[in-house]
Amino acid sequence: MKFVPPIKLAWLRFTSCSGCQLTLLNNEDSLAELAHVVELHNFPLLSSACGNAEALDVALVEGSLTSPGEVERLLAIRRKSRLLVAVGACALTGGVNAMVKGERHKAMVSIYGKAGAEWDTFPPQPIHHFVKVDGQIPGCPPEPHELLQAIAAILHGGWPSHQVMPVCMECRINENRCLLEEDCAPCLGPITQAGCDALCPGLGVPCEGCRGVVPEANRDELYRLFITAGLSEQEIRHRLERFGAAL
Ligand code: SF4
Ligand code: SF4
Repeated sequence: MKFVPPIKLAWLRFTSCSGCQLTLLNNEDSLAELAHVVELHNFPLLSSACGNAEALDVALVEGSLTSPGEVERLLAIRRKSRLLVAVGACALTGGVNAMVKGERHKAMVSIYGKAGAEWDTFPPQPIHHFVKVDGQIPGCPPEPHELLQAIAAILHGGWPSHQVMPVCMECRINENRCLLEEDCAPCLGPITQAGCDALCPGLGVPCEGCRGVVPEANRDELYRLFITAGLSEQEIRHRLERFGAAL
């Protein structure tokens, strides 16, 4: 799909922490350049002025869907956008919002009091449950360069290619010590799509799996390793469910 700059672009936020938006804004060095090729129509963290363009070239969508009102808004955005891109784990899998599961009602009441019980909401859903998604940018949050690469590739009528491999490969390339092998830490790197340069394991923090599951992931072997490392079945299930890695 070809675009003639400046492209009409909007960032739409649903149920989320806005961390993905912040990641794009943190690319200070590139924002001025971006301004030459992008006509911004909505970007909640940047401006309270709400764009109301009749048609968009690209809609970047952050967050999961949690209410009928959000679904209506998403459908309207889909109708007027040539490309719709899901950004971040919340939009791709439901993300951390989906963690409360059966405890959701309790959580709503404990945070918002009585009003929380009355709101018309449902368990957090990824956006592909409601609309066609043309591109996905994984991560919680995504890597800053991935956001810029996606916008640059769209401008040239394409989509960035990426190597399909697990985070463990990036650990090996960076010569990180293995937290799973050496500390029996519950690291999800063996089944998680790479692209973050093994950021967390490199800092001594086990991978949480925020980038989604790599194709052909060997969950059975990871399960065996976690059991050997002393994790209970429940702990393993919770860990795999956090970013939708459970079967
Ligand atoms: S994917 Fe992570 S950083 Fe992005 S909005 Fe969701 S919780 Fe925040
Ligand atoms: S620390 Fe985690 S991501 Fe790195 S090699 Fe070990 S299991 Fe894989």
